[in-house]
Amino acid sequence: MVLLVDDQLLVGESVRIMLGSQPHMEFHYCPDAIDALRTAKEVRPTVILQDLVMPGVNGLDLVRQYRADPATSSIPIIVLSSKEEAAVKNEAFKAGANDYLVKLPHEVELIARINYHSKSYLNQLQRDDAYRALRESQRQLLEMNFQLQRLTNLDGLTGLSNRRHFDQHMEAEWKRAIRSQTPISLLMLDVDHFKSYNDTRGHLAGDEVLKTIATTIQQTCLRSSGTAARFGGEEFALILTATDMSESERLGEQLRRNVEALQIPHGGSDTSPFVTVSLGGASTIPQEGDAFLRLVDAADKALYRAKEAGRNRLVFSE
Ligand code: GH3
Ligand code: MG
Ligand code: MG
Repeated sequence: MVLLVDDQLLVGESVRIMLGSQPHMEFHYCPDAIDALRTAKEVRPTVILQDLVMPGVNGLDLVRQYRADPATSSIPIIVLSSKEEAAVKNEAFKAGANDYLVKLPHEVELIARINYHSKSYLNQLQRDDAYRALRESQRQLLEMNFQLQRLTNLDGLTGLSNRRHFDQHMEAEWKRAIRSQTPISLLMLDVDHFKSYNDTRGHLAGDEVLKTIATTIQQTCLRSSGTAARFGGEEFALILTATDMSESERLGEQLRRNVEALQIPHGGSDTSPFVTVSLGGASTIPQEGDAFLRLVDAADKALYRAKEAGRNRLVFSE
């Protein structure tokens, strides 16, 4: 696709005849400099043949205009000029021309140059497309990896962190607490008489309760630096960083009351007519060499004591 911009109709006709022998070439002719840029954007040539001296317009200004416009900036430009001086050629290349031919070139030379520039331009377009496609697939891959990472850390039913992520997170926060010598607390929460809830209302209704409790946990610890996880089954864990015992107790008690206040009917509980939870808490400022499992164990034992003491309560480890 060749676009010739030249005010001399004779030149236009000559070039048309020369290229007429090339069935794969399409020829467009623009005699008016005013229309040149618009025509180039419409035609999208693979080569522009640009005259240098046109009435009222400097051909080099046109070259600069093609270069400045994103739609034409990389189209190869062959300047056609009657001048042979090196200084003029130098100016043309500086303005952005790719090639320079003295008018009128021989047909063989003109066709060879047009072919050369067209092919390299088309190759470049293909490379750009391939590169864009590669970048896009890289971006999608990154996004998918990110989503996958997120999913491997989440519990499918409740959307809270899963046990895997709980362990990772606890390990990291534990180390941070050792370094900064700040308190770290853990709340373990277990639904009371949940087996009989499932037995009387069905497993699917039980799932809904777990989801609702998960939401309540998240809302309760929204303003604290806590991470909630589904520890397993109907048990949840809450890691509270930079939170001491009294603050954790306050939060745990708030959580117990918030679940009770949901007033989810529970026919099979001798603790309450509604679904309730028991909580065990533990708090420490860990020292170098301490393992976080000791905190988990302490909170778990406290939870057991809460069950023993009648459920629907919080017991904090000494
Ligand atoms: P306690 O008050 O002593 O905790 O009694 P409990 O019945 O809650 O305790 P138990 O450990 O005997 O039973 C836990 C029940 O939790 C049994 C199991 O079917 C149920 N459960 C565990 N995971 C899920 C779940 O994902 N969905 C549902 N619906 N139930 C679950
Ligand atoms: Mg349990
Ligand atoms: Mg239970």
